Amino acid sequence: MSEKRVPVLIVGAGVGGLAMSTLLAHDGVHSLLVEKRREIFVYPKARNLTFRSLEILRGLGLGKAVTDVAQHMSNMISKEALSSADENPALDSDMFFPSAEKFSPEPFGRYCPQSYLEPILLTDTRRLDSDVRYNAELASFKQDNAGVVATIRDLATDKTSVVHADYLVAADGTHSHVRRQLGITTSGCGPLPMFIVFVYFRAPWRQFVPHLGDGDAVYIDNPKVNGIFMVAKGDLGVFTTTYLPSKGETADHFTPDRCREILLNAIGTSIDVQIVDVAPWQPHEQVADEFQCERVFLLGDSAHTMPPFKGGGGNTAIHSAQNLAWKLAAVLDHTAGPRLLRTYHTERRPVGRFAARQSLTGPATSFLRLDDKGQGPLLPAEEERPFFYMIAGYKYRSNAIVTDEPASPDPTTVQLVETEELRGEPGTRVPHAWLQRDGQPVSTLDLLGKGFTLFTGAAGDPWLAAVDAVSESVGVSIAVQRIGPNTAIRDIHGKWAAITGLSSDGALLARPDDFVGWRAETVPAAPEQELRRVLSQILATGQSTNLQAP
Ligand SMILES: Cc1cc2nc3c(=O)[nH]c(=O)nc-3n(C[C@H](O)[C@H](O)[C@H](O)COP(=O)(O)OP(=O)(O)OC[C@H]3O[C@@H](n4cnc5c(N)ncnc54)[C@H](O)[C@@H]3O)c2cc1C
Repeated sequence: MSEKRVPVLIVGAGVGGLAMSTLLAHDGVHSLLVEKRREIFVYPKARNLTFRSLEILRGLGLGKAVTDVAQHMSNMISKEALSSADENPALDSDMFFPSAEKFSPEPFGRYCPQSYLEPILLTDTRRLDSDVRYNAELASFKQDNAGVVATIRDLATDKTSVVHADYLVAADGTHSHVRRQLGITTSGCGPLPMFIVFVYFRAPWRQFVPHLGDGDAVYIDNPKVNGIFMVAKGDLGVFTTTYLPSKGETADHFTPDRCREILLNAIGTSIDVQIVDVAPWQPHEQVADEFQCERVFLLGDSAHTMPPFKGGGGNTAIHSAQNLAWKLAAVLDHTAGPRLLRTYHTERRPVGRFAARQSLTGPATSFLRLDDKGQGPLLPAEEERPFFYMIAGYKYRSNAIVTDEPASPDPTTVQLVETEELRGEPGTRVPHAWLQRDGQPVSTLDLLGKGFTLFTGAAGDPWLAAVDAVSESVGVSIAVQRIGPNTAIRDIHGKWAAITGLSSDGALLARPDDFVGWRAETVPAAPEQELRRVLSQILATGQSTNLQAP
């Protein structure tokens, strides 16, 4: 039996696992990713990327690949039947989603379905020499103090091999076997009483909506059928409809003949329709009670599954991958202590729980016949927060965030920023402001280095020597960005100063995941010592001085 040693073994090549693989590769960690599917997912599933995911992909140099797929988010029109002459706007993304101009260099969102995103991530991680194997299943694993030992089955040959890994990342989806094997319980509603069916088909259906973009959808509502047409790829379409068990309907009723009849009723005229696949699906709202068990981490849907009504599943998976990747890389290269890894659970579980709950309602809920009681969304209206909060409007609280703010009375509940803006508070994503460098506009997010970044102002000289000394002795990269008059980067509209309230000798320390780890209002008497203390706390290399939860 062949044996292999890797720093990180990832299970599952959905958006979560592939994002993890490429983020680690950019940090110099060459992982092995195993996926039991034979190939990349060909159906769209997650369809829209929101601005935080776009920022992360931009930071990886993948912004153009994503922009090439589409320029904007999905819109939806409504028709009585696909072939009817009349149509009305059903969901205009420009109207529905606010502009992100205030807080991001990216638009609020872009259509880039999983079937396009997965190949982008796969190509990138393979380019950086990470290993991704399809047709390969995690058959079993065990862990001890020394590492994880996993058995991988090649599904083509049925041969098994042994992989020794320092860490295992389980991105193995909603029904995660790894989570179950570890005995990790979940909280939330679990499976929702919504019974959805995806009917994949080939037909010359786009002739009726020639103006429809690839990402757009057509909502059909007539006495015989209710559902949504979307493009999967080319002439491969998907019709999403529902069934109601309370009326004696089951998924088994969706035979190819019945699906053809449903589609013809939705199209409104007779054309050749070939049924390719029928996939029943039930959305879940469930969050793992632990995101880490010693050397094993849950990621994506295995950690936080949410209904698709706010498009949160794929996006939140990418955000969690970004939170975990730099921490694993820092522990693996010994610049951080293993206690840093605990902050993945502390920081991401409250966010995952919040995102899952907020996803109980959203634009698409009103279009599908989800139940016969007219119950509608399950999230009480007073609990719903603007989209911004789910994407970037939260504050991490953990030992990897250094702040004098009092600890939260309930560290398991997400902390949201007070208003819909980011102001450079510790624990929040670095604020975006357009600045000018060499006469060209540049976003503060584009100034973030691969490791840590220290932003300071025109009077920030004392920080430079401190950064050089600490960066060398601690072994981490810290880029310095000085913003202000007589520096290379000009805040010509005064936006950065106004947003952050930072004085010209203050400093804002961004972690490698673009979150503010610490800020100093002014330069302290001994900046080198102070920076060393802060980094030692963030990287968990010294004694913990923070009394908050890890
Ligand atoms: C219909 C639908 C629409 C959606 N729309 C959106 C949207 O608009 N926006 C959004 O953000 N999200 C959306 N989502 C959610 C999104 O698809 C998921 O949240 C996202 O794919 C999470 O990715 P993941 O990597 O965690 O899990 P998955 O994509 O489920 O991937 C898990 C992978 O693990 C593999 N696996 C499992 N066990 C093993 C094993 N033992 N060995 C090897 N491989 C294994 C599986 O084969 C699978 O490929 C939607 C989901 C659905 C179903």
